[in-house]
Amino acid sequence: MEKLISDLRDFAKERNWLKYHSPKNLAMALGVETAELTEIFQWTETEESRKADAATRKHIAEEVGDVMIYLTMLADKFDLDPLSCAKNKMKLNAIKYPVNE
Ligand SMILES: [Mg+2]
Repeated sequence: MEKLISDLRDFAKERNWLKYHSPKNLAMALGVETAELTEIFQWTETEESRKADAATRKHIAEEVGDVMIYLTMLADKFDLDPLSCAKNKMKLNAIKYPVNE
């Protein structure tokens, strides 16, 4: 995770893009990329959405990558590690939604 964060910082810095990377812009970009991922499944039947040919799988992988990039960049603006955030949220979810026995 640290390597990805570092690489994303370098990538933006080398292109002089940091001036565009406000939290607002990154949150908007994250929303756009999430919509692009969602669009892949738009109008598909439920069972159809479970299957993906090689081209669709490649497209899904690219959009997952875009979502991860913007999520990581947004979290980095607040000095947050997305993996730690997810782990912490899972702990809260386990308390909120206990297993019914
Ligand atoms: Mg995209």
